[in-house]
Amino acid sequence: MKYCARCLYPENAKPTIIFDDEGVCSGCRYHESRMKLEVDWDERLGMLEQILEEAKFMARKRCNSHDCIVPVSGGKDSHYQVWLLKKKYGMNPLLVTFNHTYNTPAGNRNLYNLVEKSGCDLVRFTAGLDSVRKISRYMLKTVGDLTWHYHAGIRTYPFQVAVERNIPLIVWGEHGFAELTGIVSLEDFVEFTRWTRKEHDMRGYEPHDLIGKEGISEQDIAPYIYPSDEDIARVEVRGIYLSNFVYWNANKQAEIMMKEWDFAPITFERERTFNLHSKIEDHANDVHDYLKYLKFGYGRATDDASMEIRHGRMTREEGMVMVKRFDSHEPSTLQTYCDFLGITKQQFYDWVEPMRDEKLWKKNAVGKWEPQDAIFLHEIGDLEKKARVKLSEESTFSEVNRRMYYNPLNPPPKTGERALDESSLSFRVI
Ligand SMILES: [Zn+2]
Repeated sequence: MKYCARCLYPENAKPTIIFDDEGVCSGCRYHESRMKLEVDWDERLGMLEQILEEAKFMARKRCNSHDCIVPVSGGKDSHYQVWLLKKKYGMNPLLVTFNHTYNTPAGNRNLYNLVEKSGCDLVRFTAGLDSVRKISRYMLKTVGDLTWHYHAGIRTYPFQVAVERNIPLIVWGEHGFAELTGIVSLEDFVEFTRWTRKEHDMRGYEPHDLIGKEGISEQDIAPYIYPSDEDIARVEVRGIYLSNFVYWNANKQAEIMMKEWDFAPITFERERTFNLHSKIEDHANDVHDYLKYLKFGYGRATDDASMEIRHGRMTREEGMVMVKRFDSHEPSTLQTYCDFLGITKQQFYDWVEPMRDEKLWKKNAVGKWEPQDAIFLHEIGDLEKKARVKLSEESTFSEVNRRMYYNPLNPPPKTGERALDESSLSFRVI
């Protein structure tokens, strides 16, 4: 297996990455391009201001109290998006939450916090548990994805609300795929469309493809049906990504939100990553991420450590230790989801079996799957040394980042809030 000379991504990382002559991946190069001086962030901020002014103008014309929609989960990015739009640009966003039902106590705590601190209106749609169960079961079995309904719901419900309430602008946070592996460049100014929704968020499936599978009915898929082209055109809905206009530094933004609005990271050690502030609202994330490991041989520790390396907060050596510690670990919540879906663990593993990437996985003599390679088995050579970025003073495990990342030698202080201090084996539906 080939690995990036700078970060820790393997050649089979999804979505597709490519390596240049220096062995550095497209994700790392994209990250670098954001730092380069030729990106004129002032000019981009000006463009954002113009879009927001136009949205305010349209809201007035339509006698609408809300000038935009911000899809929120209660995570650090939602906090930052709402804070920026409301405090800095004087917008009156309508917060829209698609509740996928796999919530952590910490996630609920932070969503309530966001609603309280922002003073904004919130609309929250909760998917019915019966339909969630059926859809999760089917998508797990077919594409190895337990959380398809998240992505479908999060990318659909805000558009349904936009059409229903005649609000033309939806403001997303980061264009995640780009940051991960560099699939598009900053020059593309990519916007959210029906196409990106289907291809990137819904694994090529439209909701109607699910009808009749595992007893899935028309009613079950209703929350995932995108408005018609006519409706989108009539309301003139567009979806923009803030990360195209604002220099995006998730770590710094989380810090600002902790200070300004009491966004709170968790304080306990997680099973699949050292990161304490990202995706802490998503209870199924451990299993979702473990599935990625079972398919492609890498998981969240690779993602998180790669991001730290790109920012110069972690060395390649430290990153490799994280990957070794976390990526192959079976999460305790696997049993929770097997019980919820009415399957055994054996069935879970059997379903995943045909999805294993045989470039990496081979069965041994006794029929057990074994990874044939791992980043931590690779020596650091000249190519890797040359590809290193300059180290920042604020390293991942330094004192300033104590609440952001779990360091067993210097764990974060407890908050006294149970939702933040203790992990939970079960999810909260509402
Ligand atoms: Zn890389």
